[in-house]
Amino acid sequence: MREILHVQGGQCGNQIGSKFWEVICDEHGIDPTGKHQGPTDPNDPAISDLQLERINVYYNEASGGRFVPRAVLMDLEPGTMDSIRSGPFGKVFRPDNFVFGQSGAGNNWAKGHYTEGAELIDSVLDVVRKEAENCDCLQGFQVCHSLGGGTGSGMGTLLISKIREEYPDRMMLTFSVFPSPKVSDTVVEPYNATLSVHQLVENADECMVLDNEALYDICFRTLKLTTPSFGDLNHLISATMSGVTCCLRFPGQLNSDLRKLAVNLIPFPRLHFFMVGFAPLTSRGSQQYVSLTVPELTQQMWDAKNMMCAADPRHGRYLTASAMFRGKMSTKEVDEQMINVQNKNSSYFVEWIPNNVKSSVCDIPPKNLKMACTFIGNSTSIQEMFRRVSEQFTAMFRRKAFLHWYTGEGMDEMEFTEAESNMNDLVAEYQQYQDATVEEDEEEYGEEGDEQIYEEQYS
Ligand code: GDP
Repeated sequence: MREILHVQGGQCGNQIGSKFWEVICDEHGIDPTGKHQGPTDPNDPAISDLQLERINVYYNEASGGRFVPRAVLMDLEPGTMDSIRSGPFGKVFRPDNFVFGQSGAGNNWAKGHYTEGAELIDSVLDVVRKEAENCDCLQGFQVCHSLGGGTGSGMGTLLISKIREEYPDRMMLTFSVFPSPKVSDTVVEPYNATLSVHQLVENADECMVLDNEALYDICFRTLKLTTPSFGDLNHLISATMSGVTCCLRFPGQLNSDLRKLAVNLIPFPRLHFFMVGFAPLTSRGSQQYVSLTVPELTQQMWDAKNMMCAADPRHGRYLTASAMFRGKMSTKEVDEQMINVQNKNSSYFVEWIPNNVKSSVCDIPPKNLKMACTFIGNSTSIQEMFRRVSEQFTAMFRRKAFLHWYTGEGMDEMEFTEAESNMNDLVAEYQQYQDATVEEDEEEYGEEGDEQIYEEQYS
């Protein structure tokens, strides 16, 4: 058993986190009381076993055969968690695992990280510790949060650094929602996001980037929703989260735990921000009408329009990538299609990491779809999104606009400067590997170097 401990924080984190649990409860046949009801199609008894085979990764088994999410919910105000508790799957969570304050973070990262959040963090850690102690062999943590607000962002990254301190050898995966002015609450979001990225670079092992800018564009342009709501954005997020975690939850070979996922996808430790994509894209309520073939899925999956991050993969190169197909289909066809894409687009994959694209098939499709595919890419083009946030940050920081909200909570301006340069360094590192070629390597360490070693050894 290799358990994962889930934590969701702040308004956005709690919304997307609870949607994630609704979706995976459904996929594992768990009803709102925690009972395993099996597959909706009773003609498929094999599915029932698959649903339970790795159920312990995300669920604890309680008395009476109930399955309880290994989830901790935190917030600095009670509202969002109240509505989760009274929502459709509210009773499935362990009541003691709701930890909340009353003060709010007022979209201020400093309040989440240094003042209000710091006061509540020990109660959260108590619950986390209790869950961790209950595990047979904890593989790691996953945290759901937004980076633009105060709680998920400031307190979320505080929790991540505390967990890293206490469990340094466990994996840390995040589902991080990046802010966009297209769906923004406040102007200081680039500050909060940059301060968070500064933390995530150092303290997280792998980050699934969910960019509200891209989610909004998908809803507006592809799904033709004229006024996308958070509910619409979150529908895309929960489908992606279900897809990304599918290989962790169901039996299979590829990326079957958080460490294997990291090993395959992360060639350099700081470059652990993934672009995720999903096909077919559907809006809420329209799923049953979409049905695709393997070639169509593959084509869509690589398409910039299907990426949950506002960056165009064709402006960069893939260091690594991984694709999870779901549903009944031919593995041979999947392999052929994937090879085909790589052969036709070889210039978009760095040639100095051979075999950098992996794929796998999971028999169980997501709800209401016959087939689907989730994509995780480590693309140097993700720098476009970091540049966007960085430009917004710098525009304000140059004039020290709104800084008093942060210094008023005891923060030093220095932390802003450091966060800004850390994110700019990250952008530069992506650029460096985007430009790196095999020829260049040969110039630097090529044949001459080999000869030298040879001479030293044998002369
Ligand atoms: P917190 O409660 O202090 O963590 O603040 P929020 O989670 O409300 O953070 C604000 C940021 O999250 C903004 O960038 C919002 O656009 C975004 N946000 C808030 N709620 C949601 C949501 O349900 N879905 C998505 N995709 N983004 C959200």
